[in-house]
Amino acid sequence: MGNSADIARRRLLQLLGGSALLSAHIVKAETDVTLSGFRMVQQDNVMLHFDLDRAADGAKLFTLSDPDRLVIDLPNTRMAESIQPQQFTQGAVKGFRFGMHEGEKLRLVIDLNRPASPSFRFIPRQGGQRLIVDLGVKGNPELMDYKARITERSALRDIVVAIDAGHGGKDPGAIGQRKSREKDITLKVAQRLYKRLAKQQGVKPVMIRNDDTYVPLRERIRIARTKNADLFVSIHADAFKRKAAHGSSVYALSLKGASSEAAAWLAQKENESDVLFGDVALDGLSEDLKQTLLDLAQNTTLEASLEVGDDVLSELKKVGAVHKPSVEQANFAVLKSPDIPSLLVETAFISNLQEEKKLNSPAFQDRLAVAMQKGITTYLRRRAPEGTILHAMRG
Ligand SMILES: [Zn+2]
Repeated sequence: MGNSADIARRRLLQLLGGSALLSAHIVKAETDVTLSGFRMVQQDNVMLHFDLDRAADGAKLFTLSDPDRLVIDLPNTRMAESIQPQQFTQGAVKGFRFGMHEGEKLRLVIDLNRPASPSFRFIPRQGGQRLIVDLGVKGNPELMDYKARITERSALRDIVVAIDAGHGGKDPGAIGQRKSREKDITLKVAQRLYKRLAKQQGVKPVMIRNDDTYVPLRERIRIARTKNADLFVSIHADAFKRKAAHGSSVYALSLKGASSEAAAWLAQKENESDVLFGDVALDGLSEDLKQTLLDLAQNTTLEASLEVGDDVLSELKKVGAVHKPSVEQANFAVLKSPDIPSLLVETAFISNLQEEKKLNSPAFQDRLAVAMQKGITTYLRRRAPEGTILHAMRG
């Protein structure tokens, strides 16, 4: 891909940043270094710590006077969006500014109230490298405990999990031998999952439906998108012609047949391209390239879906029988967001008399909700994107 294609691809990834899990996934493959955190440590000298996902090759430091300031140039580096520079003022340091310099360098400017003779080094840290700058000016022991993380809690966001209770309203879903309706069971399990996720710091669950209403499949995807969902989980309890069929299953999308859906999605997005793509629209790109960009997004989303599906299935195995030992793939319309990792959980078979009975038990409904919560949390802890509370908690 040429340069304009690279820019367009980045733009697409930014657009898909609505699903930050996905963008985090992709950003790893880029050559950029990301600066995600900062703190000042008052030891014998004033030390500045910058957290990077890896060492910035070619980093340079120099000082300027009148007024005194330290300049740090980090090639091919970008600042995490959550960083708030104005919160950085303490002791010898008067202020902190940053911006892109000569296109690709991140330039950090530290305003000082006295001359400094800085030195720096990179040391490994969990998840990357830390740039440690010794300002060469005496620290203030009284400020020893001061740790100014410029990534403030309030600037960090929750990860949004959309919970989709299958069926509803005029669509009862499958009906059990004892006349239990799938739509009632799915809503109860969904509400239990909601309550559990809502208690978790850094996670914001949203319900696609919260009562007995009919929501078309396409509308479910749309709601998830308007809520900025990072993850979509659809809950079902379907029937099978073989009444002995039992156990939980987890589905991700099968890409067979996904491309026309994807094309429809793209058409809709293009109408909004002014808003979404900013200065680089997809308009100028060939159909082939558009399709390539979309396939890239869909494949990455699917990888994430399979990964979180695995985590959820592992937990469901602890609750009871599973129908299949691994995540299955099928062409469910509700799983077709190209940019939101999506799962469909068949909790159990309502057509199986024993399982129908269990599905009506609050204790079993809760065990299902706990299993889903644990699986989702395992995944989110591992994949939380920068700028989220869960990512910051990971340290
Ligand atoms: Zn169903």
